[in-house]
Amino acid sequence: MIVTRQIEWDMGHRVTNHRSKCRNLHGHRYKMIVHVSGKLIDKSGDSSEGMVIDFQDIKKIIVENIHDVLDHGFMVWQKDHILMDFFKKQPDFKYISVPFVPTAENIARWSFERLKPLFIDKFGTNLKLVEIQLWETPNSLVICCKKDIV
Ligand SMILES: [Zn+2]
Repeated sequence: MIVTRQIEWDMGHRVTNHRSKCRNLHGHRYKMIVHVSGKLIDKSGDSSEGMVIDFQDIKKIIVENIHDVLDHGFMVWQKDHILMDFFKKQPDFKYISVPFVPTAENIARWSFERLKPLFIDKFGTNLKLVEIQLWETPNSLVICCKKDIV
């Protein structure tokens, strides 16, 4: 069975070499849905009995490791020297430097790699992260699953 949990956050970025307007500094309200699969927990009397994973446990993992890391920050490619120089001189501004162009595809893959080891199979139910859906706009969606991780 698959259970999902959704979060949203606000973040700035730019796609440095983009041929059009995405090279400008701008932001999005990102929406992410995390899909976790597993058998139902059958440990009698456990708080999670009958669940794949407690929704609160998914929420805690993705809020702490995605939302709180990115929200109201600016994601910067480490090779974007103009912005890296700017942010290094402005320590009051929240930025997240990453080794990739911050496209929705790369952000989804980065999130998958970050979250995957945090979903631990405590009950032998084959619990695992299987998919991340990331909306950059209400009409633009990227789907990342295990086969997309090198
Ligand atoms: Zn954008």
